[in-house]
Amino acid sequence: MNSSITRPSRKPAFGARPRTGGSSTGGARRFNSNSSHPTSGGPRRSFSSGGRRPFSSGSGRGSSQRGGGGRGGRKMQTFDVSKYINLNPVDTTPEEVYVAKHTFKDFGLEQPLVTTITNMGLTIPSAIQDQIIPHILDGHDVVGLAQTGTGKTAAFLVPLINKTLKQYNRQTLILAPTRELAIQVEQELRRLTDKMKIFSTVCVGGINIRPQIQGLRRQNHFIIGTPGRVQDLIDRGHIKPGGITTVVLDEADRMLDMGFIHDMRKILQDIPDGHETLFFSATMSDTVKGMVFEFMHDPITVSVRKKDIIGSITQDVVHYELHTKFDTLVALLKKPEFTRVMIFGAMKHSVEKLSQELIKAGIKADAIHGNKSHPQRQRSLTNFKTGRVQVLVATDVAARGIHVDDVSHVINYDLPNTYEDYVHRIGRTGRADKRGMALTFVTK
Ligand code: AMP
Repeated sequence: MNSSITRPSRKPAFGARPRTGGSSTGGARRFNSNSSHPTSGGPRRSFSSGGRRPFSSGSGRGSSQRGGGGRGGRKMQTFDVSKYINLNPVDTTPEEVYVAKHTFKDFGLEQPLVTTITNMGLTIPSAIQDQIIPHILDGHDVVGLAQTGTGKTAAFLVPLINKTLKQYNRQTLILAPTRELAIQVEQELRRLTDKMKIFSTVCVGGINIRPQIQGLRRQNHFIIGTPGRVQDLIDRGHIKPGGITTVVLDEADRMLDMGFIHDMRKILQDIPDGHETLFFSATMSDTVKGMVFEFMHDPITVSVRKKDIIGSITQDVVHYELHTKFDTLVALLKKPEFTRVMIFGAMKHSVEKLSQELIKAGIKADAIHGNKSHPQRQRSLTNFKTGRVQVLVATDVAARGIHVDDVSHVINYDLPNTYEDYVHRIGRTGRADKRGMALTFVTK
């Protein structure tokens, strides 16, 4: 694991900007028809249907095209096919093992927490946990550069739970970009605080605010929510910024991408000085840097690069002609190795339509997008997690931060808007020491 710590300085220091092109390990390669397929170990197989050309980089000249279905009017960047191909990822073996300096028993955590962590089967801290937990326990502001799948949630929850056990009147506000992520954070909190009298309320948009208001009337050690709803509840007087001792911004870059900057700034401005601020972000854009500079005090930056994560993913493109796009997809999904597949589409309605068409074609599929109610989205996610459906079709926003084990393939049926979206999408597969494959549909 490639990780680094930056010591505090007067100005916050940051790790290098993430690469914006190519695979971070193997480098982008163009398809060479003589190359062997990394997962088959033999000659390259065709994934196309009806005797069509197997997917390849087409012209082999790094062809560019415009993506369709831009989100919120954003223009798709010029699409460089070569960035989406990495046929021989260097890191297909289990990722380089990070040698942790601590065990969970070494952090000086309260005994009930150590017991719960042990009962959860967690013994060795992940890289981000190993490096950042001591700083959070010491009361430093921290910037954690880590994406989902690195154990970042426990990296901030464990020390914050510990602090709460020692000082029962603490209150932590955790902001997350989506309701799914907020709920996942709460689920992890519940697992980590099993049998402890630590309480929380989830405050997310798109669902009835009344139960949230009820929940906020009781004592809460943790309030976990999306910025818009949290701001609304602050405005209505149900969340009192004066009582908040710690703020966590989880996936800060995604919150900014989703247009929450105004709410985030307002919330941070409302909370009195003296609180701790913990920033977690997969990437460090200029806007994130600006917020860190404005709202944090001498933060310590711990960077766990995603090199190991996307480096383990075989990436390729699927060339299609418009009238065969759907058939090409179905032919892929019928292959036995496509066991658990996430398909990304550009728009809510096209995602829903694609899932319905797949069902008609005999594929067990479900969809997750913003036009579905919260319980419907949760149901779809459960269907996918438990294997009741083989395929989950999703929009970027709905899929953000969700964690599903053993996703064999990610298919970009519609192009992502940005390379960062691409990295987020394909990060759903190839998690931990599993191999994964990402396929991106591009026109011939
Ligand atoms: P996250 O990066 O927070 O989305 O975590 C991804 C998954 O890793 C979650 O299912 C966690 O329960 C799990 N996890 C967190 N910490 C550890 C650890 N130290 N060892 C093994 N698994 C972990």
